[in-house]
Amino acid sequence: MKMESEVLRHPGHINSDVARWREDFPVLRETIRGKPLVYLDNAATTHKPVSVIEAEAAFYRHTNSNVHRGVHTLSQRATDEYEAAREKVRRFINAASTREIVFVRGTTEAINLVAQSYARPRLTAEDNIIVSAMEHHSNIVPWQMVCGQTGAELRVVPVNEAGELDVEMLGHLIGPGTKLVAITHLSNALGTITPVKRIIEMAHAHEVPVLLDGAQAIAHLGVDVRELDCDFYAFSGHKIFAPTGIGALYGKETLLDAMPPYQGGGDMISSVSFGETLYNELPYKFEAGTPNIAGAIGLGHALDYVSSVGIAAIAAHEHALLEYATELASGIKGLKIIGTAQQKASILSFTLEGVHPHDIGTILDHDGVAIRAGHHCAMPIMQRFGIGGTARASFSLYNTHAEVDALIAGIRKVQEMFQR
Ligand code: PLP
Repeated sequence: MKMESEVLRHPGHINSDVARWREDFPVLRETIRGKPLVYLDNAATTHKPVSVIEAEAAFYRHTNSNVHRGVHTLSQRATDEYEAAREKVRRFINAASTREIVFVRGTTEAINLVAQSYARPRLTAEDNIIVSAMEHHSNIVPWQMVCGQTGAELRVVPVNEAGELDVEMLGHLIGPGTKLVAITHLSNALGTITPVKRIIEMAHAHEVPVLLDGAQAIAHLGVDVRELDCDFYAFSGHKIFAPTGIGALYGKETLLDAMPPYQGGGDMISSVSFGETLYNELPYKFEAGTPNIAGAIGLGHALDYVSSVGIAAIAAHEHALLEYATELASGIKGLKIIGTAQQKASILSFTLEGVHPHDIGTILDHDGVAIRAGHHCAMPIMQRFGIGGTARASFSLYNTHAEVDALIAGIRKVQEMFQR
């Protein structure tokens, strides 16, 4: 095992692609208490490349205007850039039309929109919604709320000891009253990749639509909504190198068309009188009020960035890091990996015997290593494993094998401190 100082001083350890990618992310040059930042909290949020930072700044410097309303040049320019970003999202996930791309604040808002606009009008006390045991609270609470409003039941697909979804059980849970299946594409707590193609086929056999929570998957797996044939896909920009406060909901046009608006206000109407209000066409019907224009433009640039690197290259690099980290972590006595699915991406979640995850996170931070500690907004899956939380390292394209070494050295240091 290399010592932390040794590995971090060996830039030769970094492959040339990664070294180049790292140059694109200015924050990676930060030091924490004199130590190089080792950022392994990418599942919480990713850092931003220069192109995204500059695109946002350029919007405020040169364009700043409201969209869809002005006849003046700046407003038209802002509208063009905002709509160009929508087209980039469409292309990135291969949706059929920009009418199917709704800009939202993020995954949370996208799921709440579907819960209130799609599910609520359709649910009765005889119906049910199906989620899995490993969902983020964002893909649990909106459904609990809509079930509370309608008397419908929330059904939960269990996961096995490895953190894999029990697909057979899903088959038993889907019934005539099932109105929607809402499942994560990639678990933020365990790193499990769910067999979404199979889930979608099963649900569609019962004519039940499927929403995929793509908050994590979007940055690590190639997403093709037409190939998947999912009905809704939700993701957040900030998990894929874009600013916070922007994300997208994909919905099949036929479904979105039949849904009432989620919020009322400016831009989502075609005409308003006190007698009658007519709603705007898709996707504007769902975009009430002034949107996050600069954020959407930033998202477009983030997707350009990912496309220029290539999602396959990103996935291959992250997979190598995850395998390396898993191998080293498995050699640490008292360390238990939570989430050992066959199909995993970019996330190493673990407990350390006798040490609270927060203590692991705090001690690692002293050496500049940033990880997440706690329940990761997925308390039910923690309960499933009988734990309060885990420590979680999550990888992105700019992480290196040397950073994994630093993580492992840090964990060993934590262990030594607690064994004293
Ligand atoms: N779903 C998953 C799987 C997540 O990992 C997250 C965020 O961590 C969310 C939903 C919520 O995303 P946001 O807070 O960006 O809306």
